[in-house]
Amino acid sequence: MRTTTYCYPWDLARLGVVRSLGEIASHGFAAIDLAANYHPIDALSPRGGLNLYTDARGAVYFPARETLYGRIKPFIHSNEIARAWPEAANEAARLGLGLNSWTITLFQPWIRDAHPDCARVLPWGDRSGSGVCAANADVRAYHAALCGDLAEQFDIALFRLEGVLSHTFDLDWLRPRNLVTISPLARTLSNLCFCETCKSRGRASGIDVAALQCRVVGAIEAEIAAEPGGEGRAAALAADAELISYTENHVRASMELVQEVVGRVGHAARVSCNAITPYRSLLGEARDDALLTGFILAGTQVDGNVLNPAGNSLAAALNAAISSPRPLSALYVTVRNPTVTSAAEMAGAGADRMLQNLQTTADAGYRELSLYNFGLLPDADVRAFMDAVAQLKTA
Ligand SMILES: [Zn+2]
Repeated sequence: MRTTTYCYPWDLARLGVVRSLGEIASHGFAAIDLAANYHPIDALSPRGGLNLYTDARGAVYFPARETLYGRIKPFIHSNEIARAWPEAANEAARLGLGLNSWTITLFQPWIRDAHPDCARVLPWGDRSGSGVCAANADVRAYHAALCGDLAEQFDIALFRLEGVLSHTFDLDWLRPRNLVTISPLARTLSNLCFCETCKSRGRASGIDVAALQCRVVGAIEAEIAAEPGGEGRAAALAADAELISYTENHVRASMELVQEVVGRVGHAARVSCNAITPYRSLLGEARDDALLTGFILAGTQVDGNVLNPAGNSLAAALNAAISSPRPLSALYVTVRNPTVTSAAEMAGAGADRMLQNLQTTADAGYRELSLYNFGLLPDADVRAFMDAVAQLKTA
C-alpha cells in the first residue's frame, strides 16, 4: 500500500522545509500532497509549539506568475510562505518523495469577493458567500492556468482537485445560522446554481429556467415550512425532466473543469478528484452512476475518502467497468472538532477501528492512502497510521 501525506506550505515554512520533509520521508511516505492554494481555515498545529494558522478568505500559496492568468489573477498570501513551495519541490526531489499539488477549486471566497459574478447563486437568488461556479468560463480558465503554472515550475506527479462540486450552502466555516430544519430534499435542491452562466446554459438546453427556478424555490420553501405532501413533492421533482436536465448540466460543468485541467497538464501529471455528487436521490442511481463514470473518465485517478465506504465501493465498481480503470486513492482524515461528527467518532474509536476502516478501503481496491495532515497531527498519530497501513492485507 502506497501512502502520501497532506501538508500545508505555512507549516513547512514555519517548521523548516528540510526538517519536515526529512521527517515525512523517514515515516515512509511516498509523496506529499502540498497545498498550492487554500480555502478559509483555522488550523491548529501541535508541532514545534502550538500554532494556530488562520486565513479568512483563502489564498494562493506558491509563487504564481500573474502574467499567465486571465481575468482572475492569483491572490498570493505572502512571499514568505510561497517560498516554501520551490524549497519543498527541491527537497522532495532530493529525498525521492513524490510531489502532488493539493488544489482547491470551487471553495475560494477570495475569488468570489474579487469577482462577484463568478459566485455560485443559490436557488432563491442569493450569492454564495464562499463558493464560485464551475460553469463560469473564467473560473475554469483560472484553474487550468493555475495548474499549468504549477506544472511548468515544479515536477508535479498529481494534481488533486478538491471540491469540484458545490459545497453545501451552510458549510460550517462562518458560523452558519439555520434555525429551521433543512430536509434532505431541500438540501439537495439547495446545491443547484442559478448564476447567469448556469441559467444561460439551461436555456440553451431548452429549459424554461425562470419557471424551473420558481418550482425549485417553492419546493425548498415547502420543505422548510414542513408542509404536508413531502413524498409527492419528491416524486414530482424526480419526474421533472427540466430539473433533471438542469441538475445534470450543473454536474457536467464540474466535469468540464476537470477536463480543462487535464487538457492543460494531463501530458505531465495525473489529475484526480472526488466526485460523489449530492444529487443521487434526485437523479436516481443510473443517471448518477453515469455522471460519476463521466468524472472517472475525465480524470486520470480517482480520489475516495476512508469515511465513505459506500461511495468508495461505488466508485471502484464503476471504475472497474471502464476500459482503462484509474488508480484508486483514499483520504484518511481524523478531524477531532466535535462539529465534524463522523471524523471525530472515527478518531475516537481507536487503532482497531482505524485498521478496520483502512482494510475496508483496501478491500475495495484502493492502493494509495493519504493521511490528512502532517502538520496538524502529533507524531504518535502519524506512526499509528503507518503502523495500521503496514498491517493491511491486499490481494
Ligand atoms: Zn452557476
